[in-house]
Order: sequence, then C-alpha cells, then structure tokens
Amino acid sequence: MVETRFEELAEVCEKLVILSGRKDKVSQVARFLKRLDSKEAPAAALLLIGRALPEGSEKKLEVSFATLMDLLEDSSQSLLSSEEPPTILEVSSTLKRIAEISGPSSRSRKMALLRSLIMRMSELERKWLFKQIIGEMQHGVNEGVLLEALAELTGANLKSVQRAYMLLGRLDELVKIAKEGGREALEKVKLKIFNPLRPMLAEICNDVDELLKDIGGSVAFEYKFDGARVQIHMKDGVVKIYSRRLNEVTESIPDVVKQVKDGVKGVKEIVLDGEVIAVDRDGKPLPFQELLRRFRRVRGVSEKIEEIPLKLQVFDILYLDGVELLDKPYEERWKILSEKVDAKLLAPRIITSDPKMVKNFLEKAIEEGHEGLMAKRLDSPYRPGRREKLWLKIKPAENLDLVIVAADWGYGRRTGWLSNYHLAAYNPRTDGFEVVGKTFKGLTDEEFELMTKKLLQLKLSDDGYTVRVKPEIVVEVAYNEIQRSPKYRSGYALRFARITRIRSDKSPREADTIDKIRELYLKQFRRKGSLTEDFLSSRR
Ligand code: AMP
Repeated sequence: MVETRFEELAEVCEKLVILSGRKDKVSQVARFLKRLDSKEAPAAALLLIGRALPEGSEKKLEVSFATLMDLLEDSSQSLLSSEEPPTILEVSSTLKRIAEISGPSSRSRKMALLRSLIMRMSELERKWLFKQIIGEMQHGVNEGVLLEALAELTGANLKSVQRAYMLLGRLDELVKIAKEGGREALEKVKLKIFNPLRPMLAEICNDVDELLKDIGGSVAFEYKFDGARVQIHMKDGVVKIYSRRLNEVTESIPDVVKQVKDGVKGVKEIVLDGEVIAVDRDGKPLPFQELLRRFRRVRGVSEKIEEIPLKLQVFDILYLDGVELLDKPYEERWKILSEKVDAKLLAPRIITSDPKMVKNFLEKAIEEGHEGLMAKRLDSPYRPGRREKLWLKIKPAENLDLVIVAADWGYGRRTGWLSNYHLAAYNPRTDGFEVVGKTFKGLTDEEFELMTKKLLQLKLSDDGYTVRVKPEIVVEVAYNEIQRSPKYRSGYALRFARITRIRSDKSPREADTIDKIRELYLKQFRRKGSLTEDFLSSRR
C-alpha cells in the first residue's frame, strides 16, 4: 500500500475551514475517509478532529506552545528536499510516541521527535500539525460531524452509527469497523464484556416542581454521590473496573473488586454502572479530593485501603448473561439489578410524584454528606455517552464545569502564582472555548502552586500580565447568578464564581457548553421573575 501523505489531510482541513454548511463538511470528510485505506482512516479521523490520541489513553502530548515556537525557529530553513514528506500514519504514530515520553529530558526528546516531522513538512502541514497539538482545529468538524460522515460513507443510518460508537466507546475502532465491514458491520456491533462503553450523562434540573409537572407522573430519585463514576464488568468471577474516561482502574481499587465479588452472586456475565465514594471509618462520605488520591495510586494500595476506605454504590445494569439491557426501561433494569446485586450496594432511591417527598429526600441526602439527587425517568433507556433530559441532577447550589483558558499573574500575597483564572464554556459548533467569567477564589495555597505549575506547562503565550493556556484543565465552578455581559464575547458572565474542585476526570470537551449557560440564564430569569411575582402578590 502507498501511504497517504499528511499533506492531504492538511489540505482537507483548509477546505473544511472555507465550507460553511454542516452538510458540505460532512460530505468532505466522508469523501476523504473513502479514499483512505482502512488502516489509515482511523488515525486520520482522530487527527481530523484534533485528537491525536485515542480515547482511553491516559497519556497526554504535553508539548507547550513555547516548545513549538522554539522548534519553528530552528527549523525555519526550507524543507529538506531529499526526504519524503511524512504520511498520516507516521504523524499519528509519532504523536503517540511523543505522548509516551516522560521523565528526565523528556522535553528535548519530545522536541527531537517533533523536529524529525516538521523538518519534512511544508508550511501548510506544519500549521495543521500545530493546531492538532494545541487542540484547537477551528474548522467546525467535531465528533458529531464525523459520525454523520461515517453514515454517509457506509449508507448506514446515523442512529446505528451513533449506537455503534456508544457501544465501542472508541472513535478509531468505529472508523476501522466502518471501513472494513461497512454498514452491516456497524449494525452488528454489540456490547462486549471487558470493552467499556461511555457512561450515560445527566442534565441539570433547575426546578423539581417543573420536572414533575412536565413528566406528569412518578419519577425515580436516587442519591447523587460525590465520587467517581465506575463501570464494572464481571465474567466468570473476573472483575474489571473502568473509569468515566474508560481507563481501567481495577488495580487501584481491590477493595471495590471485593465488594463486587461479595455482592454480585449467581451471574456469569454482568456490566454494572455506579459510583465509588471515599468514606471515613463510620462510613460517612469524604470529599472528592480524598477519593482522587486513591484512584491515582498504583503502588502502596494496601496501606491506603485502611486509611481511605472506598464504598461502591451501584445504580444501573447494562448487560446480563448475554443479554444487552440498554433499551429496557429504567424500571425494568432496576428490577433486574435488585435481583442480582446485594441491596447494600444499591443507591438509595424513592419513586414519587410528590415534590414534598423529593424535598425531604434531598435534605436527607445532603445531611448524609451526599451531593444531591439524580432524577431518572422511569421509562428511560440507557443512552451511553449521551447527556439528555432522561437523567437530571438536583443539587442545592448551581455548579458548572468550565475550562481554564488563561490566567493572570497574582500580586500581593499571590505574587508568583497564576491566580485569576479565565473560565470558559465549550462551544460545540466552533469546537472552541468562550470565556464566561474569572475567579481567584476557592483554591488553597497548595492548590494555587500546583495549578500554576500545571498551567505553565500548557502556556501558549505570556504578556507579563495574562498567560494564555491550552484549554485542558476542567474545574467545577459554583456561582450565584448568570448575567448578560458585553465584557465577554460569549455575552454571559458568572457572578461570584468560585472553584469548588478540579475535575481531572473530565476532558475539556466534556465541560459545560455555552448553550447550557444560555439555557440556565433564561431559566434563572424565569424563576426569578416568578419569585418576584410571589413576593409582590404576598404584599398586596
Ligand atoms: P456531573 O458530573 O455533575 O455531570 O453529574 C453526573 C455524575 O454524577 C455521573 O457521571 C456520576 O458520576 C455521578 N452520580 C452520582 N450518583 C449518581 C446516580 N445515582 N446516578 C447517576 N450518576 C450519579
């Protein structure tokens, strides 16, 4: 096979920038994938949407803007004409190798590998390689466009492509199957044990009364635990556990493995969804940060089991003994779940249509140290990777997950730290990030120091006052109100924003979107409006 050059990918990216319609972008991507070999297409698809590394990879490129600038400077000479330009597969494998490099002198080793590529690249190829590394392609092609392109390429309907992706959890796998087996193979994709799928996500619920009115019947309300999402696969007594980002974490949490083995009996194969929380000796939940300390640990696991015990709480079942349960309604899944899993492991829940009962249950959850409640529609299927209104989180305070895109140098007590963080929401249409507020509140001194170090590694530019960084760090931000604001291009600003935790389990594209902010703003407006009315009517 003659390998396709990276140059072709760069040219397609240029065309994508010019095309304005989504349909045209889809067709352009489909045509490009069509002409590639089935070995090249998966790598090309990832590169096309600015994700050099496949899902489930723990590694990061960790190449800063400064490194790229240094490289550009010493390779400003013209192309080495004697050498062949790099191919798509070569760029992809080099980027993977770069991500593997860590430890002493890693910067220079990463630079050497990058240099070997860019010395053989044209201006255009360099431009798109750099955009790739920075993670901002800005040509309007995201995961959704790619899925549509695969549907166009294979003639499969979009729903079956989306479903295959949900079950596989990996885009490169999906593209490979589409190229090798076409529509038929995509339609045949099945949930496989030890092959984690993307977890179902939840929307924010602003108003329980409204929710109950909308649904017009009973809804299930479960405790919302402040922990880490886990997907548990068990076959013939072998247990493997995966994180929200589909990394295997079994080894770090043997105590959870034991809880699964003790609490799930009489099944051959099972896939469960749940949350792991850290608890103190009396079983009371501990803050999320404690839990992270356990999850990162590979060595010295046994000492930590004593110090920070973990508790598993299961709330869904996706598969049982050869039968996929995703399309079964929530109620039916819970019935199966409660037959197979020890009640001790199951999330406490109520089913009700009475707002008062919800309020009491929410208070109980908070009192016991949990985050809030999760409302789930009784008729809802399990939709992997989807954030829809089938699950709704109810928390007492409003939170958003935002991405740090820049930070100001601190002064006074915070001199030497990057302390005022520019917080941005994700815009899926432009695949960019839009600032909605700034804050220096919420971190401890120790966290400021760590954050400064992390941000400097992601530095894109520094004008002495503000450091712009690659959008990578996601933080949970509590706020009091969303306002319209001409100050930011997004048009919105958060009032009294403060960082409540660092969401190292989330990638920047999983942050809350600008659309959600707009929606929250409107809801809040309505709610406040009605509150004012209540107030006024009580005064009459
Ligand atoms: P958030 O991360 O704020 O978008 O909230 C969704 C997360 O809440 C899920 O990804 C789970 O990790 C977690 N969670 C805690 N309790 C539950 C529950 N009972 N059902 C579903 N998710 C839960």
